[in-house]
Amino acid sequence: MPPKRRPNHISLAMVIIATGFEMSSSCDFCASNKRTCYLSEHSKNCSECVRAKRSCSFSSPPTDRELNSFLRDFNKIERERKSALEEAVEAQARAAQAQAKAIRLERQAEFLRKRGGLLLRRGTEALESENSPEQSESVPLVGESGATSPSSGFLNPEVFSTSFWESIAAENPSTPPEHSASAQ
Ligand SMILES: [Zn+2]
Ligand SMILES: [Zn+2]
Repeated sequence: MPPKRRPNHISLAMVIIATGFEMSSSCDFCASNKRTCYLSEHSKNCSECVRAKRSCSFSSPPTDRELNSFLRDFNKIERERKSALEEAVEAQARAAQAQAKAIRLERQAEFLRKRGGLLLRRGTEALESENSPEQSESVPLVGESGATSPSSGFLNPEVFSTSFWESIAAENPSTPPEHSASAQ
């Protein structure tokens, strides 16, 4: 049988350092050798004890300094955690507000598109009825106010005579796009 493969203890120690956290109170081995003690929740031994192939031990009771250091670390992390959570909640609320606004504006735009369609239909219908022979020339375009619209003169059928459009076409001879492109 081939020998059982064992993981390299130095590599394991590096993984504990990379993924774990620095202990505010070192184990006995790290304390006596003045090493930084990293611990991972997935390993019962610290990085330096794994590296030295030994087991962690905590013989002496923690000092007040160690306990205070732990409390300081713990409270700092808790403050940061709560603040990050509040930021996330606020960002979510802002996103929901922006989404609601976008939906409202989309509804307004849809309403205006329909209204534009109705106005256009009324306008073209009015134009058709003005062009019909039984209508008199002096019917104002906008009904109730009786005020003469600046465009009402422009909509006079005489202005839109065939010769008018022919003169425009003569001044602006249209050329096919591919013809003008090949000429350059
Ligand atoms: Zn240690
Ligand atoms: Zn240790």
